[in-house]
Amino acid sequence: MSIGENISVIMENLKEDEILVAVSKTKPIELINEAYLEGLRDFGENKVQELLDKVEVLPKDIRWHFIGHLQRNKVKYIVGKVFLIHSLDSIRLLKELEKQFSLNNLEAHALIEVNIGEEESKSGININELNELLEECERCSFVKVKGLMAIIPIGSEEKCRHYFRSMKGIFNDLSKRNFKNIEMKYLSMGMTNDYKIALEEGSNMIRVGTGIFGLRR
Ligand SMILES: *Cc1c(COP(=O)(O)O)cnc(C)c1O
Repeated sequence: MSIGENISVIMENLKEDEILVAVSKTKPIELINEAYLEGLRDFGENKVQELLDKVEVLPKDIRWHFIGHLQRNKVKYIVGKVFLIHSLDSIRLLKELEKQFSLNNLEAHALIEVNIGEEESKSGININELNELLEECERCSFVKVKGLMAIIPIGSEEKCRHYFRSMKGIFNDLSKRNFKNIEMKYLSMGMTNDYKIALEEGSNMIRVGTGIFGLRR
């Protein structure tokens, strides 16, 4: 199927306020342009240099999402380039975001990445560290938390559903609390193989790469 057909199929599953982030990592400019011409404006990258190269040459109305692990020494390069950072996962990173964005008098919009499967190998903050990070976010002036992101463990449909549901539970709980600088607007979860389940369980932002652009090398 073509990129256009792939996008149509996915869009049929989305309600008006649900967002498709096209994960364009490793994919060339021409293919991203093709998706852009189909109407997509949200694109996701996981490497800072690749993101910067693409920002440079692609249309300015694209909303770039940073979805990979963000190293603190790279934060300064993405100031003013990203719409949303999906991978806020430590107080140390938070402090660097606050510092670098404040130097430019710009807001950093970020999702807290939750390691919902508590996997050793995965990035994201564990549930028991979440409150401490939230408290620190409330003390910021330039970082604004816009919701949560999760990459769930590989597993059966039932397992996926369980993790998505847990994330939605946390998202709902936090929505009810009154925080400074923190709102629960986006729940970023679901990729090519599980986005339908994620949407059923309350995701409002899916990140699809392979399902749009085909397999990555
Ligand atoms: C690569 C990636 C995706 C997209 O994965 P697909 O299976 O190709 O849809 C989504 N989220 C993150 C964080 C990724 O790194």
